[in-house]
Amino acid sequence: MNQQEQFRHWQQLDAAHFLHPFSDSRQIGERGTRIITRGEGVYLYDAEGRKLLDGMSGLWCVAVGYGRRELAEVAARQMNELPYYNSFFQCATPAGIELAAKLAEITPPQFQHVYFTGSGSESIDTIIRMVRRYWQLEGEPQRTVIVSRWNGYHGSTIAGASLGGMKFMHEQGLLPMPDVEHINQPYWFERGGDLSPAEFGRRAAAELEAAILLHGPERVAAFIGEPIQGAGGVIIPPESYWPEIQRICDRYGILLVSDEVICGFGRTGQWFGCEYYGTRPDLMSMAKALSSGYLPIGAVMVGDRVAKTLIDKGGEFAHGFTYSAHPVCAAVALANLGIIQREKLVEHVRNAAGPYLQRRWAELAAHPLVGEARGVGLIGALELVKAKQPRTWFEPRGKVGERCRDLAIANGLVMRATRDTMIIAPPLVITPGEIDELIEKAWRTLDQTLIGLQKDGWL
Ligand SMILES: *Cc1c(COP(=O)(O)O)cnc(C)c1O
Repeated sequence: MNQQEQFRHWQQLDAAHFLHPFSDSRQIGERGTRIITRGEGVYLYDAEGRKLLDGMSGLWCVAVGYGRRELAEVAARQMNELPYYNSFFQCATPAGIELAAKLAEITPPQFQHVYFTGSGSESIDTIIRMVRRYWQLEGEPQRTVIVSRWNGYHGSTIAGASLGGMKFMHEQGLLPMPDVEHINQPYWFERGGDLSPAEFGRRAAAELEAAILLHGPERVAAFIGEPIQGAGGVIIPPESYWPEIQRICDRYGILLVSDEVICGFGRTGQWFGCEYYGTRPDLMSMAKALSSGYLPIGAVMVGDRVAKTLIDKGGEFAHGFTYSAHPVCAAVALANLGIIQREKLVEHVRNAAGPYLQRRWAELAAHPLVGEARGVGLIGALELVKAKQPRTWFEPRGKVGERCRDLAIANGLVMRATRDTMIIAPPLVITPGEIDELIEKAWRTLDQTLIGLQKDGWL
């Protein structure tokens, strides 16, 4: 089979047998999947032999870039030595122990303990169980309500999708589960109206206090949020937002949970998103860049307040996953963190790549289709609008983003569309030259999107 025949063959098998996550299977049958076969640095290669600049790090994962032989070798060594053992019933493997110690070292000082999982969603489930267990042990078992945000994303298990605020996910599965309360997101561009970002941020945070008072402070267990909402469209809260959330959590004694699955491990130019915003969470969920996606692994950082209660009063915590602290995944995660430290990638994002990307990304705001270009570190979003003043969105929403995304891919750039918000989160290793290429491809894509919209009567 030549390359094109092989590609068609895979597409046929895929359409016949493979049900994809977050995909419309009928559309796949009609349009075919994109099949990625190889990666190197910030680039992907597909089954048709095309080269793509991966502006999304896979799914926000591949912090150290593709093709790291070192990680492959660590995995092979661990597989040969001990491919699997569990961490139930007072067992451990060296890789799990060393990764736990490394995480305690690089996370903020209140975190000395870690609970391993297999994914971000499992970390969220674990946090719900831990939070409720904590309040039981503290003699306040009625504290079961968890507050989160509309349009937040916390994974796809029953619990993760419940805490998440994706209404289209709730509608498909009798969700959310009980005792989850959603408040509005700090999405200034869409919801800020005439308010300054600072005033809007305070009002968005005040919704937490309102939710606490609605249920009664004695019923509320925790608040959870992503420092910057990723999948929801890179929603960057005004500077006033997180300090106010922290103040409200402190005032009512409720636990603060930072979902660091995207912001963790350098994305913002700090190790963790909570450090970028100056909050002091009690728990953090992590996954994705923890292993740069090379193998599946997640973790929950358990702050001293919760850890002390669980350890001193809790006895056996009746919870765990077969693959918690899987030795091969743990060894690769440890080596991945070693690369991030050795190559000073967090500093690279803070001092070099982040500022440069943000400067170039902001230039895109001059494009007639772009209502806002925002970003922090190596994460960014563009709001595509029909008119800038007053802000006018395309109707129906989401179609223009999809067109722009398809054109980006045709131009050799992976950008993602959430509604009509175009988002990027490239690997942390991206160089200035590669950033220039990303911006140049984004410009070309926006120009082509505009021409297509004019031709088809959208404008
Ligand atoms: C991806 C993501 C999750 C879920 O992680 P999975 O590994 O897909 O289960 C949870 N929270 C956030 C913020 C995420 O981006």
